[in-house]
Amino acid sequence: MNTNEIAVMHKQYVMPTYAPGLALVKGKGTKVWDAEGNEYLDFLAGIAVTNIGHCHPAMVKAVQEQVATLVHVSNIYYNEKQPQLAKSLAEKSGIAGAKCFFCNSGAEANEGLIKLARLWGSATGKYEIITMRQSFHGRTLATLTATGQEKVQKGFAPLPEGFVHANFNDLESVKNAVTSKTAAILCEAVQGEGGVLPADPGFLEGLRELCNAKGILLLFDEVQCGMGRTAKWFGFQNYDVRPDAFSLAKGLGNGYPIGAVVAGEKLADVFQPGHHATTFGGTPLACAAALAVIDVIEQGALLENALGMGAHMVEGLCEIAMKHKKWIAEVRGLGLMLGLVLDVPALPLQKKLQEKGLLTLATAGNVLRFVPPLTVAREDIDRAVELVAEACAELDDEMAGQSSSTCQCG
Ligand SMILES: *Cc1c(COP(=O)(O)O)cnc(C)c1O
Repeated sequence: MNTNEIAVMHKQYVMPTYAPGLALVKGKGTKVWDAEGNEYLDFLAGIAVTNIGHCHPAMVKAVQEQVATLVHVSNIYYNEKQPQLAKSLAEKSGIAGAKCFFCNSGAEANEGLIKLARLWGSATGKYEIITMRQSFHGRTLATLTATGQEKVQKGFAPLPEGFVHANFNDLESVKNAVTSKTAAILCEAVQGEGGVLPADPGFLEGLRELCNAKGILLLFDEVQCGMGRTAKWFGFQNYDVRPDAFSLAKGLGNGYPIGAVVAGEKLADVFQPGHHATTFGGTPLACAAALAVIDVIEQGALLENALGMGAHMVEGLCEIAMKHKKWIAEVRGLGLMLGLVLDVPALPLQKKLQEKGLLTLATAGNVLRFVPPLTVAREDIDRAVELVAEACAELDDEMAGQSSSTCQCG
């Protein structure tokens, strides 16, 4: 099928929750190809999902072997992959006594965190959860209510009770939101959908102190910034802070759907039989995929690569930002979770780059997000930066006409 045929059939039979542009049919490493054979450098990586690149041979092998051995048995039975994955994540978290619960997506992992916090708080009448404005936690009813963006909530009332929003990177605002009913604070270390915005040094540590002082749980949503994305296993490890529990999904299975809740001592045994469940969570196949991902990140020293390549990309992007001070405000992010912050909408730049063969994603209106695979090579970064420079030069007149600002780089 060509792109047009795919698009026509899609429009007829698939709900229009998205408006896709390209029809991709093949991927390898940092590259993908569309139905007409055009090649793209993939700095979107399925929205920070394919962290070890497309069709990594080690993952292909692990999944092929497991799919031919045992796919699913339900959680009525043990499977040997699930505790192996749980052990690996618990150890990497650095959180004492950590245990995992496996599910299938980011929203479901956050639902798990929310239910865990409510069950923990139920003994003392605490149920409120404070989340941050501009956050993103998913699209189920509870997680879209947790999400600090009205646009995802519109039309879905009545929303579940017990969610309160505060300002990200504003400790006073969080303190003011605390009541005698507060069970937990839920926060991203780097807001992804909110515009690739890292927590300020001191903010997460301040939340930890506040939680300790008031007997509140600290929960991190690591769905996007986890699994090596920020050049640490988990985004919070860039800070001197440990949560009571956190959620994972996106990069965990490199595209094989799997989510997880990782909880420390205080919460590890709160869920007892009957409290929470999922049919598909933690199948041998999903866990085999995630174990292969972790192995590739370790064997390939991909956290180190993410740090080096991230710094190299920031350098290149800052040079571009300096050249277009009139409409580019700054470059920000951690590791290979980077944002080019514009003073104008980022969509025209995303589109121009796609025409040139570079996939990126505009978010929060004015931020162009780069989340390439952690395997990305120096020459891929150089090529991407070259394409961004070209696109910015071509769009300069149009963009500068809309805005004026001062670049914070350099
Ligand atoms: C993508 C995302 C989610 C939702 O994950 P789904 O798998 O789409 O349900 C939750 N939190 C954050 C931070 C995300 O980036």
